[in-house]
Amino acid sequence: MSRKEIDALEKDDVRYIWHPFTQMKEYAEEKPLIIKEGRGCIVKDTYGREYIDGVASLWTNVHGHRKPEIDEAIKRQVDMISHSTLLGLSNIPVIECARELVKITPEGLNKVFFSDSGSTSVEIALKMAFQFHRQAPDGDPKRTKFMCLTNGYHGDTLGAVSVGGIDLFHEIYRPLLFDTIKAESPYCYRCPFSLSFPSCGFECLGQMERLMEEHAHETAALIMEPMVQGAGGIIVHPAGYLKRVRELCDRFDIIMIADEVAVGFGKTGRMFGCENEGVRPDIMTLGKGITGGYLPLAATVTTERIYNGFLGNYDDFKTFFHGHTFTGNQLACSAAVASMKLFEEEDIINGLQEKIDFFADRLRPFSSLDHVGDVRQCGFMVGIELVADRDTKEMFPAGERIGHQVIMEARRHGLIIRPLGDVIVLMPPLAISKEEIEKICTITYESIRKITE
Ligand SMILES: *Cc1c(COP(=O)(O)O)cnc(C)c1O
Repeated sequence: MSRKEIDALEKDDVRYIWHPFTQMKEYAEEKPLIIKEGRGCIVKDTYGREYIDGVASLWTNVHGHRKPEIDEAIKRQVDMISHSTLLGLSNIPVIECARELVKITPEGLNKVFFSDSGSTSVEIALKMAFQFHRQAPDGDPKRTKFMCLTNGYHGDTLGAVSVGGIDLFHEIYRPLLFDTIKAESPYCYRCPFSLSFPSCGFECLGQMERLMEEHAHETAALIMEPMVQGAGGIIVHPAGYLKRVRELCDRFDIIMIADEVAVGFGKTGRMFGCENEGVRPDIMTLGKGITGGYLPLAATVTTERIYNGFLGNYDDFKTFFHGHTFTGNQLACSAAVASMKLFEEEDIINGLQEKIDFFADRLRPFSSLDHVGDVRQCGFMVGIELVADRDTKEMFPAGERIGHQVIMEARRHGLIIRPLGDVIVLMPPLAISKEEIEKICTITYESIRKITE
């Protein structure tokens, strides 16, 4: 590209684009990084500089960029048709995609409702649970509320924000949101009960149980991210937590919604987060990695029981009145089918453990850095929490933007990552090589050291 073309792109980027989750005043002061191409786990900018895609293009990419099988599947589909509506019609890739999803999700999840982002998959899950109780013969119309966790994240649309628990993102919208029943999350590094695991005896679950005793009669569903709360700071839950939440939901007849948008498709080392503890939720939401990170697609997968609660004659008005314009889009579904086939053909899940162990080994030195308070890993999801003081766990002043400084330093050394406040996140594509993991860890380690010392 010519210097002039690049200059024009850089100028128009800040002139016309309002970037997501970005303070534009600060963004405009830094030179934008504009991606031009990618291959495998490497992306290239307009100057031809190469970077490792250290957070898998915001937790979406699975097999690397320009994976031939997915590229071909999309191209083949373009030559057939790119989009026709799913409202009243069906199409070939969406059927194949639903078939594959039912095959790979936990036993008993047999009905797939498609949409196009993680947030919409969550809205759908919430509305399904609510409407089920309003009208199903085995529902209970008094159950109109939702239980959720502190530090939870389920997307940015208002229903998803209502069940979110990150004050920084969610507090300002409070007047617009519906009320929820909030249980403390098992954020062991900063335990809300000032206890430590395992001697705490799961006090957080004790609290959840008390909340359910009090509120189950008015609670439609509980929504949570299984195993890892992603956007809340890669908060890895202690072993046994998820399974016990399932038991509580069973005991109090509360619909369990597992938001697998972040953890699904191999991120925890298993295909789905729930599999780590043999849990079958009543509703599962999927997004991010579903197309291998290629195209926007999401799915809400549920049981026959919930589905049957919506059956009736048209004038019973039990229809699920919900559907987005691009629901079931053929290009997105063909990418998802190709991605799921790759999981099977390349036996991807079984090949992950060795890389996960290697990753864990390379993360070990971080704990000795003066300003690293906690290193959390679940499979390919890693959070390194930086603190001003390790003894008191005091945070850095927000204005110092330590996390941001660290990732900008890493960028200068050829690694793209994105922090969550002062938690440095590493979440490479599953296709990452050991050499690349090594590089990610080295650059991150040096960047943290340089910025915090
Ligand atoms: C990213 C995310 C969402 C929202 O997905 P979008 O595609 O950004 O709308 C929902 N839930 C979880 C757990 C997520 O990580």
